[in-house]
Amino acid sequence: MQIPGHIDPVAVPRAPTLREDGRVDLVGLSKDQIRAELEAAGLDAKAAKLRGKQIWHWVYNRGATEFAQMTDIAKAQHPFLADHFVIGRPEVVEAQVSSDGTRKWLLRAPDAQDYEMVFIPDADRGTLCVSSQVGCTLNCRFCHTGTMRLVRNLTASEIVGQVMLARDSLGEWPSQPEGRLLTNIVMMGMGEPLYNFDAVRDALKIVMDGDGLALSKRRITLSTSGVVPMMARAGEEIGVNLAVSLHAVTKEVRDEIVPINRKYGLEELLQACADYPGVNNARRITFEYVMLKDKNDSDDEARELVRLIKKYRLHAKVNLIPFNPWPGAPYDTSTPERVRSFSNIVFDGGISAPIRTPRGRDIDAACGQLKTSSEKKTRAELDRLAEEKQAALG
Ligand code: SAH
Ligand code: SF4
Repeated sequence: MQIPGHIDPVAVPRAPTLREDGRVDLVGLSKDQIRAELEAAGLDAKAAKLRGKQIWHWVYNRGATEFAQMTDIAKAQHPFLADHFVIGRPEVVEAQVSSDGTRKWLLRAPDAQDYEMVFIPDADRGTLCVSSQVGCTLNCRFCHTGTMRLVRNLTASEIVGQVMLARDSLGEWPSQPEGRLLTNIVMMGMGEPLYNFDAVRDALKIVMDGDGLALSKRRITLSTSGVVPMMARAGEEIGVNLAVSLHAVTKEVRDEIVPINRKYGLEELLQACADYPGVNNARRITFEYVMLKDKNDSDDEARELVRLIKKYRLHAKVNLIPFNPWPGAPYDTSTPERVRSFSNIVFDGGISAPIRTPRGRDIDAACGQLKTSSEKKTRAELDRLAEEKQAALG
């Protein structure tokens, strides 16, 4: 049987559009990159090093968006900096608030590509769900994002920009160690983060830097659908918590619902989890398991899940996610009784298996519901739009 969905993804390789005014956006640049940009603009090495450090602090710790705010940099130098650089934010097209307090932002890149981010407040934490791509090439059958035709990688600037914008809107500058609303980050928005490895790594390094946004790696989780060859590098070079979208325990079902399984099978994936650097009892891998009615939710499958986790001696917990519906989705949500029974079997096997409460469903902000209208524009249409914009600017 021909299973729909391609497995060999090709993200549209498109460099971010340079700003029309030729200035460089500092958001998304590391300390070294800021220093190099200052040198390229004409500062000598010593001045660039000092200014770079100051600017880094203002941008990422204080949330400054204007050079005039940088009181420890001589006023006379502000116009020079403003001529060469900006401290940008993603353009907000729409901001929505769910009845449960979840917030969703629709953001637009300069090349007219849209992506989304979601903030989920809880009593004891606040989690920002960050996108890594516009769309996703992977076509998991239960995921709305996977139905978007157009895909491009987000830049490190666009990824860090989401965190900066969330901090702005929560009024959380300067970075405080205590009492934050935004305490956790999950790379679980649109896209497969391990297909945009470099930008995700560079962005998360900035987010984790203690002088800047200062979010601990223990409070950041990267979720992958199972890009096995990149998992070890994720552990070594990023070192955040890992979540794996497992969703099925047999080749047959996983091939169908998570098509990347046809490329990297279950055994390989579980072995990569066992080998993930830094996993131990305190730092467990999270397996995400979307509960699809009559597809992957039987008691036998729950028992098989326990067997597999034990076979690979994984320190793991399982997050059971009731399927979040979207228009035209080919699945239904499992009944609450079925989800409970599945959860109980996994718990009885000695593995924690909490059931995730869906959040933000009324504004399509829940897991797997993110989808923007970017799919409606073809490459040719986008080029035409860009040309029109250029012509309008004369
Ligand atoms: N691409 C990455 C991260 C983004 S998806 C990944 O797949 O892991 C975040 C989580 O939401 C994944 O576990 C994904 O499988 C799950 N998900 C996708 N669509 C869903 C839906 N309709 N209902 C519930 N969860 C869904
Ligand atoms: Fe992509 Fe993740 Fe959605 Fe699969 S579940 S299509 S990998 S975003």
